[in-house]
Amino acid sequence: MVRENLKEVEEHIQEACRASGRSRDEVTLIAVSKTKPVSMLMEAYDSGIRVFGENKVQELCDKYEEMPKDIQWHMIGHLQTNKVKYIVDKVAMIHSVDSVHLAEVIQKEAAKKQVTVPILIEVNVAEEESKFGITLSDALAMVTEIAGMPNVRIEGLMTIAPFVENPEENRKYFKALKQLAVDINAKNIDNVHVRTLSMGMTNDYMEAIEEGATMVRVGTGIFGERNYNI
Ligand SMILES: *Cc1c(COP(=O)(O)O)cnc(C)c1O
Repeated sequence: MVRENLKEVEEHIQEACRASGRSRDEVTLIAVSKTKPVSMLMEAYDSGIRVFGENKVQELCDKYEEMPKDIQWHMIGHLQTNKVKYIVDKVAMIHSVDSVHLAEVIQKEAAKKQVTVPILIEVNVAEEESKFGITLSDALAMVTEIAGMPNVRIEGLMTIAPFVENPEENRKYFKALKQLAVDINAKNIDNVHVRTLSMGMTNDYMEAIEEGATMVRVGTGIFGERNYNI
């Protein structure tokens, strides 16, 4: 099933790239494997996937141990500061940095392990109360504060758009995140160049790509529905 799903997702990505005049290699597909067993991740791996997304530290660490070593692991979920130390030297990127304090902890732990951690600033563009992330208007100040941290590298921005029936409704949020990236880059802040826009999930990744996403995070569309009760 995973292999067939991946083929379909890949076709949709190519279609969205064509529709928006973008090149396929501008967009990275992150296979969001949270709650799914290693056997299913291996099916994706055997189909060529090397980039996986997880939202829990323990689960990411367990799968990191069990899966092949040429995988890039992306931490996409809310991150508690006391757990940063377990993942700083395992992840290719942390998508969910939503406070200066969290960035400071990442800086401290990354320095101890002598690594530099690529991060994205999580922006709650739609200002949904249920979601983490900072507001669009607070983003620039936060980027400026984090920019000076030597072991943290701001690569870009991430957002989780609302769950909507019609993905067209989310275009405005994707456009707003893209505009924020343009505005930040125009400030020419030392050590900051926003090149990554992590936006779009199973329901809206085509729209996100058309609006400039460079990373899409697709779970259900690859691995099927998640069952949180088992
Ligand atoms: C679970 C999750 C996804 C994937 O969601 P789907 O709708 O299953 O594609 C993407 N991003 C984040 C941050 C998630 O937690």
